Amino acid sequence: MNRREFLETIALAAVVPTLAGQDPANEWGSAVFDLHFHLRPQPASNLAHLDGAGVTKANLLTRGGALDQVKTVQAAAPGRFTWFNSYDVTKADAEQVLTQAVKNGAQGFGEMKFHVAADGPELRRMYALAADLRVPILIHFQEVDHTPNEGTWSTGFAKVFESVLKAYPKTTFVGHADAFWANVSADYHDEAVYPTGPIKRGGVTDKWLGDYANLFGDMSAVSGTNAMSRDPEFTADFLKRRQDKLLFGSDCSCSDGHGAGYNNPAAPRMAGKCVARETLSLLKRSTSPVIFQKIVWGNAHRLLRIPA
Ligand SMILES: [Zn+2]
Ligand SMILES: [Zn+2]
Repeated sequence: MNRREFLETIALAAVVPTLAGQDPANEWGSAVFDLHFHLRPQPASNLAHLDGAGVTKANLLTRGGALDQVKTVQAAAPGRFTWFNSYDVTKADAEQVLTQAVKNGAQGFGEMKFHVAADGPELRRMYALAADLRVPILIHFQEVDHTPNEGTWSTGFAKVFESVLKAYPKTTFVGHADAFWANVSADYHDEAVYPTGPIKRGGVTDKWLGDYANLFGDMSAVSGTNAMSRDPEFTADFLKRRQDKLLFGSDCSCSDGHGAGYNNPAAPRMAGKCVARETLSLLKRSTSPVIFQKIVWGNAHRLLRIPA
């Protein structure tokens, strides 16, 4: 770049307003917030995945006592990690433990992944507590085993969750996993872990994201990527219609942000791939830069009420 070009660049930078979070230096063309990142035991391995996948910030999902680990990871990379906490909802002290976690800085509950009904008493008291504490609750919905006798999680999503959304209008729900994403299609009846083929319009997940202000969608894991790769026409339309209700997350277990070690027996096509990269690439080619930036950055900041 010569001196004239340099000055033109500076002048341009001064007059073109930059959107918050827009970071041309980032390979995705936007800063990226990963809502669904499980805390890793080795502090450095957390940052290794973020840096490898081109992710700016991540939300650490923790279970039980994790404050010291969270603090270590946060201290190593100031400003790059928020955290949620989860705890066995069948235990009598669940409310006490999660309340303390929020007092210690946790910004939400999750991931809630237990063998209980989505509208059962164990989760209902967590829904009420999340509203009281004004934090979102991230829930794993799954009706079909990946491996024999794996069990199901937060069961009954398609049948009962609308009643929950109505009963807890002050609770901010973030839906995730197989049953949540399979039900973007109206023809899903718990027959496959990751259903394929064109989406039948009118699925409950799509409908409720539109009908209920208190429901958001976490696009992480193979379930999110799979749902968005089934029907490009649906995906483009869905991302446009639900642009304020969707949040990027990875739920990726690869070591380097490039797919090393990733293996999900239920999704052979993902072997050796980074779920974060797969989903970010898919979102980027399926929507406009403005909507992309909302889903991968802006919406998470609004949800967690933190500055972008
Ligand atoms: Zn999950
Ligand atoms: Zn990865």
